[in-house]
Amino acid sequence: MTRTVYVNGEFVTEAHAKVSVFDRGYLFADGVYEVTPVINGKLVDFAPHMERLDRSLHELQIHWPCSQVEMKDIHQELVTRNHLTEGIIYMQVTRGVADRMFNFPKEIRPSLIAFTQVMTLVDNPNARTGVKVITTPDIRWMRRDIKSIMLLAPVLGKQEAVEKGAHEAWMVEDGHVTEGTSSNAYIVKDGVVITRPLSNRILAGCTRRALFRLAEDHKIKIEERAFTPEEAYAADEAFLTSASQFVMPITEIDGHRVGGGQPGPVTRKLRDIFLKEAQE
Ligand code: PMP
Repeated sequence: MTRTVYVNGEFVTEAHAKVSVFDRGYLFADGVYEVTPVINGKLVDFAPHMERLDRSLHELQIHWPCSQVEMKDIHQELVTRNHLTEGIIYMQVTRGVADRMFNFPKEIRPSLIAFTQVMTLVDNPNARTGVKVITTPDIRWMRRDIKSIMLLAPVLGKQEAVEKGAHEAWMVEDGHVTEGTSSNAYIVKDGVVITRPLSNRILAGCTRRALFRLAEDHKIKIEERAFTPEEAYAADEAFLTSASQFVMPITEIDGHRVGGGQPGPVTRKLRDIFLKEAQE
């Protein structure tokens, strides 16, 4: 089955989903994106994703390509047209199409594309076993709070992880873990979840935000501070969060077994309560 893709106002087949070679997303990575999970055919946590999109666009002075209502309609229409029950919607806004010049061209219209991807989110087998991560230097720019499509550093980090038999790379800066290439990073020590505070050095994950709310509801303490790889090796548990993985247990970091090599109890509880809410 070929997917129906949204491209600048139209729903088209994959074969007709084309953008200009002059699009500034293609030439400069001058754009932003969002990934929204879909469970049982329903968008999960859509509002926080749109809030973050609004902020990313504002920081880069890119206009909204459509109204917020239209944006939701496009997402829902993609779910319907593709009969998507479980997976993600990828959505990207770029500054638009113009002759190549570095500064912002005048009177440019933003480009908007979106497509679905089928994925097993709830019953992800990785969540049963836990995953391995490696650490690698964080070589990214200083505005990681913007969800930019400029993803070469994460691409290289993830490739390094895969080549080393791991699932994710935790990036390290000034001796401390910033985040994963496409996820936020957490350890658990003595029942307390430890994760880096928000700043321009990490992306404010929507899953992170939901996790904070659920942890508070369930009286699980979160301490916001940076941690070192060494501290992570010795942690009781470790996990990552992202829109497509929710809460994913980590059982090995740089070859060090964490929590006896099994997903830990705090991690499992957080995944369970997250999934319960997402499925409701
Ligand atoms: N950090 C980075 C660098 C990411 O790319 C992502 C996923 N896009 C996240 C964190 C997690 O964010 P979210 O929970 O909104 O998917």
